[in-house]
Amino acid sequence: MKKIAVIALIIFISLSLVLIPSLNAETESTPYLKFCGANGTIFGTCHLLYTGKSTLLLDCGLFQEEGYPKREVDRRNRFLPFSPRDIDYIFVSHAHGDHLGRIPYLVRKGFSGKIYCTEATAEVAREMLRLLAWILSHDSQLYNLSHVEATIKHLVPCDYNRTYTLPDGLRFRFLEAGHIIGSAMVYLDFQEGGDDYSILFTGDIGNPASPLLRPQEIVEDVDYLICESTYGNRLHSDGAADMAKFKDIINDTTKNGGKVVIPCYVLARTQNILYYINKMIREGAFDRPFDVYVDSTYANKMTRIYRKNSNLFNDETRQEIRQRKPPLSFPALKGYTPQDRIIGPAVILAPSGMANVGSILTHLAAYLPDPNSAVIFVGYQPEGMLGRKILEGAASVKVGGKMVPVRAKSYYLSSFSGHADYKQIMKWLDNFKRIKEIFVVHGQPDSSRALAEYIESHTPFKAIVPKFLQKIYLK
Ligand SMILES: [Zn+2]
Repeated sequence: MKKIAVIALIIFISLSLVLIPSLNAETESTPYLKFCGANGTIFGTCHLLYTGKSTLLLDCGLFQEEGYPKREVDRRNRFLPFSPRDIDYIFVSHAHGDHLGRIPYLVRKGFSGKIYCTEATAEVAREMLRLLAWILSHDSQLYNLSHVEATIKHLVPCDYNRTYTLPDGLRFRFLEAGHIIGSAMVYLDFQEGGDDYSILFTGDIGNPASPLLRPQEIVEDVDYLICESTYGNRLHSDGAADMAKFKDIINDTTKNGGKVVIPCYVLARTQNILYYINKMIREGAFDRPFDVYVDSTYANKMTRIYRKNSNLFNDETRQEIRQRKPPLSFPALKGYTPQDRIIGPAVILAPSGMANVGSILTHLAAYLPDPNSAVIFVGYQPEGMLGRKILEGAASVKVGGKMVPVRAKSYYLSSFSGHADYKQIMKWLDNFKRIKEIFVVHGQPDSSRALAEYIESHTPFKAIVPKFLQKIYLK
């Protein structure tokens, strides 16, 4: 009897040893995602994916929060919850600084893999990274131009809608995201332990109402979706109403010889505004002629990249080109150097869109005190930032370290946003027949939470908001 009990015990122990690892499903090779940026914020996008065979990053962007002490922002940029040497590849959704701006730092710290992106993104990235090295040289030594030049050598330009297979079996494809020139969603699929995995990373989802670019590609089936939520709880104002207001502001301001100052990012926003102004001039929307200036070497470089990649424009714009109506070239658009004096009514576009750095500071200092001038903000101005203070009616503001009285009128037109609002995201999500789980990222905490709740109450899909550094096993 005793002997039987001992044998039974031995069998039980042996079985347990075999069964325990399989009951605890996470083994060394279980794929997982780790969220290393853009959690509770729109900055620092960086998602780590371990496939069981390789480790890769989906974007690796800068934290650029205004209102935080510069030292704190720098600390966040330098904090890497992984070793850059252990990263095999990086996939870049698009060339905005908050999506690729930390890559030169990874290269500096030993990353030596390939960086995959679309061809147009590679083109924009070369300029964008040089610009970032210059901006960072002022208040952070995160990396310098030599790190940027080394990074550029790692870029592997890829076609849209073509499936590439890497030696470890990982397959990837770039799909149009409609956000900026070259922007893409990254579709990945791989096998591990006999299971298939598919992941779609939206990068930034474009605003379907934006001009120039093709709309975001439709996808119907994916296991895991990593979805942005910049406008997760907000809707854009009515595009047509904003356009009418834009026209009225320019007409009212140029009537008195004033300047319309538009803080805008060098990439996408500048080109969209130029497109609208050009179109309105052609349609006779303005009461009188005025000049248009873009005070940024980089913005002008980006405009040239847009012109060169007109094959990525939407049908309407390509049709206009065929009709000899180039979308981004028109006589009122004048060359500009900082030495030039702007005489007479004018529209001035200058970076940055958040009015915190760049040549916009010169124009705000010059024209905020002028009651005949106007400032139009065409992008979201977060709490605490200069733009928000101006919009909230501050009597005076600090511009580049100097107090400046605010007498110019100020406006916010939100429909110019390059991001889809939550209804537009939901409309795109409607195309999916199956998603196992949605990870909501890239938004202020309220915004991400609201989108996740909205998804769960309006679709059959499960949505969660991962926390910074949360590791989620894919099963
Ligand atoms: Zn972006």
